Amino acid sequence: MAKCCVCGKKLGLLSGESFSIQHNNLLICDECQNNRSNINVKRNKNINQKTILNSREYFQKCIDAGTVEQEVLPAIENMIEESVLAEEKNNEYHNRKKLFKMTNGYNFEGYHISDYLNIVSAETVLGTGFLSEFSSQISDVFGTNSGMFEGKIATAKDMAVKNLVDKALDAGANALIGVDFDLMTLSNNIIVVSANGTAVVIDKK
Ligand SMILES: [Zn+2]
Repeated sequence: MAKCCVCGKKLGLLSGESFSIQHNNLLICDECQNNRSNINVKRNKNINQKTILNSREYFQKCIDAGTVEQEVLPAIENMIEESVLAEEKNNEYHNRKKLFKMTNGYNFEGYHISDYLNIVSAETVLGTGFLSEFSSQISDVFGTNSGMFEGKIATAKDMAVKNLVDKALDAGANALIGVDFDLMTLSNNIIVVSANGTAVVIDKK
């Protein structure tokens, strides 16, 4: 009878999935597989700390119970370690994001700019169909539906700004100055909303 290489649970013919880290005929059960995907901390995703913690505990219990096959043990231990590190990084990223400042001007009251890092830009593309959708509303442009266009542009701007902040954070900045938007129309009903600014490091005076 086949068994899961992590928790040791017996597996039926159809319930086993192969363990992709290892190439032998090692199988992993659905429960372990689920925990394996839950343990990954992804940046920008809303992480459920409790789920991640539970998954880490789950694998730690498997290790403690001695059910983890020798061949996959390093991979499992590594996975737990990486999850802890990724969570720390993620927390640090979110803390920096919380303190992040931006302006369409060129300075911040009470701060001085200690470093100019990079000009950053980010684009959001509003795809095909967007304009035809809009033109069908054009007769009603002063009616309630005209808000749709503005709404889409605003959403696209928000997305562009989020990407812009990410790029600035990646560059090691804690602020953006001269934040500016451009709207471009490409052929085939495509609108590009681009945001740009200068990534800087600011310090309190
Ligand atoms: Zn299992």
